[in-house]
Amino acid sequence: MNVALVTVGDELLAGETVNTNGAWLAEQLTDRGCRIERLTTLPDRIEDIAKVVNEYRAAYDAVVVTGGLGPTHDDMTMAAVATAVGRDLEHSPEAEAWLAEQGGYSADELDEGTTDLPAGARMLPNEVGVAPGAVVESIYVLPGVPAEMKAMFERVADEFSGEPIHTAVVVADEPESQLLDRLAAVRERFAVDVGCYPGEFVRVKFSGGDANVVDGAAEWFAEQVTVADREKE
Ligand code: ATP
Ligand code: MG
Repeated sequence: MNVALVTVGDELLAGETVNTNGAWLAEQLTDRGCRIERLTTLPDRIEDIAKVVNEYRAAYDAVVVTGGLGPTHDDMTMAAVATAVGRDLEHSPEAEAWLAEQGGYSADELDEGTTDLPAGARMLPNEVGVAPGAVVESIYVLPGVPAEMKAMFERVADEFSGEPIHTAVVVADEPESQLLDRLAAVRERFAVDVGCYPGEFVRVKFSGGDANVVDGAAEWFAEQVTVADREKE
């Protein structure tokens, strides 16, 4: 499955809040064998969210959106997703019933709009907070509060799958610029993806669907370079 992630919030763009939701979701989905094609952060602006979600739902198998579900003026993700799929926002009796049953909220206690979802959406209950999430077409709308987002993602996690990806890492003790010839050679010899991540040492990560090919590539590469350390993932 190819997946696009959209994290919404002015505070993320201002650097006030670190985008831990994006990193957490990307790791969860990658571990399930999904390929993350986009991780985009957008402002709390309805037309921007609608435009990007609409573009991504056409291009990828699923879109996961987090943030901006609450009742405040800057929470407009549900309305934007409804716009993206050309549906109205509608009161969800299912969300109201769940909130009454589980949270003990009566309808008049809830802030206006809290139970509004895109027409025909599947409601995702919020076990940790109030605002429900939703699935509409291939778009998953989750809250921004990290604990709420994680609990809600667990409810739908099984809907995300893909071929398992195998990885192996070789940590090379040579400058990246000196590794170019051997990086090219390993890519020529083996059908694997190769990622190169310089730091104190250079982490070279091999990944692909066939564990033997991935391990073979890593072993061959390790013989060609000065190895600082070897990890297998
Ligand atoms: P609620 O339903 O509780 O109102 P919400 O879905 O409206 O939540 P936001 O109002 O966008 O979510 O954000 C709630 C809190 O979660 C804020 O403190 C925000 O900084 C934090 N948050 C939002 N998005 C992220 C993110 N991508 N990574 C980490 N924290 C985030
Ligand atoms: Mg917000």
